[in-house]
Formats: sequence, structure tokens, C-alpha cells
Amino acid sequence: MTMSRKNSSDETVPTNTSAIPVAEGEDPWTDEELAEIRAELQADIDQMERKIAQSEADLRRLLDEGTEGTGRDPADVGSSNFERDQEMSLAANARTLLEQGQLALKLFDEGKYGVCEVCGCPIGKARLQVFPRATMCVSCKQRTERR
Ligand SMILES: [Zn+2]
Repeated sequence: MTMSRKNSSDETVPTNTSAIPVAEGEDPWTDEELAEIRAELQADIDQMERKIAQSEADLRRLLDEGTEGTGRDPADVGSSNFERDQEMSLAANARTLLEQGQLALKLFDEGKYGVCEVCGCPIGKARLQVFPRATMCVSCKQRTERR
């Protein structure tokens, strides 16, 4: 399956960042603003990768502790199970955020950033500056959250 939907012309510059749309009434992106967004996405990804590594290390530790737990106070075992569950959901959450960040960065580098993946409308500069990872506009995002 090919997904190439080319506009015949102006395809010469693949990272044409001026193609990144803004919402109605917003000023066009400046190079500086775009550089900031990209740096933030990259920093986000790095941070998430560190968090996941940390959390995997913690989990390994918790699992090790769990196996040598004979004769322990049941309350201790309970709390470390709880800790482990917490850690697992944190890790899963970080992984989701990492994937979102990676997707956003990929779209950015392909010059397809800033367009809602559901309705195709511009996500808008104001929203992207707060949530650089956003790949959906506010109304589509709200719709998915309500489900
Ligand atoms: Zn949308």
C-alpha cells in the first residue's frame, strides 16, 4: 500500500518547516519557535528514555526483593506489590509518552507536524507550544478522552 499523496509541485524541500500550519488567527511559525519545539520534543524523548530505564531498574530490584521474601511481614509484601504495580504503570505511561514524542518528532522532520491526525485541521500554535507532543487538535482529543 502506498501512502504517497503528493501535491505534484512544491515537494522539493522535504523539511519545509514553513509548511507547518497554525490555527486561524495565529501568526505563522518563526524558525526560532520551531527550533524550540523541536528541542523540546527531543528533550522530552531523552527524559522519557531515562525514566523508562530507571523504572526498569527499579522493577528488577522490586522483583528480586519479592523472591527472597520468605518470612516477611505480609504488610511488607503487600506494599512492595503495590510499589511494583505503581512502577509498572509509571513505566507504561512513560512508554506511551515516549512513543507520542517520537511520532511527533518524526512528523516534524517530515514536515507533517501540527496537523490533527484525526480531522486534518491545524492543531494550532498555542496548543503545540504547551503540548509539543500533541498529534490531535483539542476537539478530537476531547472526543477520544470521552470514550
Ligand atoms: Zn482534529
